[in-house]
Amino acid sequence: MKTGYLIDMDGVIYRENQLIPGAVEFVSALSATGTPFLFLTNNSAPTPEDLAVRLKHMGIHNVSPRHFYTSALNTADFLSETDPSCTVFVVGEGGLLAALNERKIANDSIKPRYVVVGEGSVSMERLAKAHECIERGARLLATNPDNWCPVSSEKTRPGSGATVAFLEASTGRRAYYLGKPNSYMFHRARRKLADITHTEPKQVVMIGDTMETDIRGAFEAGMQSYLVLSGSTRFEDLSDYVYQPTRLLQSVAELTEEIKTGLPSDGKAAEIFPGKSSDSHKSGHRHQTDIFAFHKPRPRPAMTK
Ligand SMILES: [Mg+2]
Repeated sequence: MKTGYLIDMDGVIYRENQLIPGAVEFVSALSATGTPFLFLTNNSAPTPEDLAVRLKHMGIHNVSPRHFYTSALNTADFLSETDPSCTVFVVGEGGLLAALNERKIANDSIKPRYVVVGEGSVSMERLAKAHECIERGARLLATNPDNWCPVSSEKTRPGSGATVAFLEASTGRRAYYLGKPNSYMFHRARRKLADITHTEPKQVVMIGDTMETDIRGAFEAGMQSYLVLSGSTRFEDLSDYVYQPTRLLQSVAELTEEIKTGLPSDGKAAEIFPGKSSDSHKSGHRHQTDIFAFHKPRPRPAMTK
């Protein structure tokens, strides 16, 4: 039995639509050796098919849609496991709609049991409708807690955490956040990994570039975690966190030989990665769940004229 890998994408495989050096060889080694792996992303907008095409255009050809587990799939799994006959009002894009549809979860804009918020563009009209549904009793569910997502080293875009924050403010209700770092994402990904390989991996390792989602989630789910310094976390930021990765790597390129030979590498400590970090020093909380420690759910303020 081999070790299975859950692999974050942005900052691990590519950055700003550019492949991380060595990523093609790393994924080829996983495929060639029959090592179980899944790409794990908080982006709920694309479908697994969209993501496979995206990687193909970047030069990674040996992956299929079954190699992806998105927060949209995780949300659909969550609802079909906990409340299979529910209905939903969705604020989100194709990947989320397709995942819910695949699980036979119906759309309902009259009296849905849940308002589900994902990544993507949104109109004030849609938000107003979601607000009304919540006022009529719908529960609020978010595919992932990201307030913003990196687009380039200079640019970010609003994430679903920001959209949910709007509805939390307008309704006084708090959302439940799926996606990384929620352990449910990791447990279901582990189960999917076992399903597609028809075997239970000896151990599962999460490889990611973000402490708050990839490393924290793996730690809380009882998995090993490898932090790569090719993305958003800088070496000098590590001491800010109470949880730490099992292992530190400059990039996934350091794992390729190990996967090919099945032997551990020399284990030398990673040097400080000199690359720029796009969001480490952006002010504010990157993820909605980060604020839980500081703010208790508050009652909705009285409406004033
Ligand atoms: Mg990442």
